[in-house]
This record gives sequence, C-alpha cells and structure tokens, in this order.
Amino acid sequence: MSIANPSAGILNFKTIPVDCSSCFYYGDLLDISDDDKRALIGATTAHQLNEEQKILLKIQELFNRHPNSKHQIILDFTSRSKLFGGNIEPEPDPEFEKDLNDNPDIAKHMTNRLFNLETRLYFTGDAGIRLQSFQNRIDIACPKCGSVLIVPQSFYRMVGSYEDAIGIERSHRWQKDLREIDGEGKFMPLPIPK
Ligand SMILES: [Zn+2]
Repeated sequence: MSIANPSAGILNFKTIPVDCSSCFYYGDLLDISDDDKRALIGATTAHQLNEEQKILLKIQELFNRHPNSKHQIILDFTSRSKLFGGNIEPEPDPEFEKDLNDNPDIAKHMTNRLFNLETRLYFTGDAGIRLQSFQNRIDIACPKCGSVLIVPQSFYRMVGSYEDAIGIERSHRWQKDLREIDGEGKFMPLPIPK
C-alpha cells in the first residue's frame, strides 16, 4: 500500500529546496515552521494541477475545433464516443491530425498517457483558486517577485516516498508486535522493507 504523503514527509527536513512558481528564482528555505512546510507542499500540488489545467484547456480547444471528428485519439481521451451513442468506430481524420501535429506541446502531453479529458478538467478545476490562496504568505514568498514558492519536482517525489518508506516500516513493526503478542512460538522474521 502506498501512502505517498509529501505534506507529512516534508516535516522531516530542515532545509527545503524551493523554486519560484513565476520567475526563475530558486534557493533554500531553512528552519521554517511546520505550517509553512505544509503550505509549500499545498502550493506545489496546486501549481502542478494549474499547469496541467492549462494544457488540458488547450487540448479541449483542439478537440472542439473538430466537433464531428471520430478520430481514435478524440474517442480515447473523451466521452465523445458515448455522446455519439456508444461504441463509435474510429474514422481517419487528416485535418485533426494536422492540427495535432501543429501543436507539439499537446501531442507531447498525450504521449504515453491515457486520461479522460472531462474528468481531469473537473479535477483540476479549482487549482487556480487553490494556488491563489498561498499567495499572501510572506514566509514562502519569492524574494525576487513575491509569488508563492514551490518545491522542485524531484524533492516533491522524494518527500512523498520518504514518508512511504516510513509507513511500510511501521506497518511491518505493527505486524511483528501482533505476532509477538500472539506468542506460542509463531513469530517469524519479517522481510526487511526495501
Ligand atoms: Zn519569483
């Protein structure tokens, strides 16, 4: 089971690397409050969703330029096939393909991914408001431009999996305790979590 909770994992760190969400500033924050650490993670999540929403809206515009297209990609990424009444057979659409090729950022976002456009748009819907809610926090504001600071992607992933590792270790310890309580020589050494 995965916990992957970066807003808990970040509390284990004293020095936090930060990037600005707007300009090119980057640096480290030292000994900030737990509340500010959690806010950094909250702002990072909101920023990521906000960035995703920007590209999703571009995809939506692209698809809307071809309202009658039955191209495989449109069917794969939307509920349009259902709107057409169920199992729509895909049809070639060179005009749509040309439009897609003219927008390489969109093509890149859809490569090796599968998602439902409507669902992701709904999920990312309030990202802008969420991001805005961190803008007035002085302790996590960019010293250059005043926008909210966020943590780099690599750090965000690392603190999440760090907490994950602790969670796995704890769950094994919990099992071990139970077996010891159970007694009667049933205790078996447990595998060490990797
Ligand atoms: Zn900045």
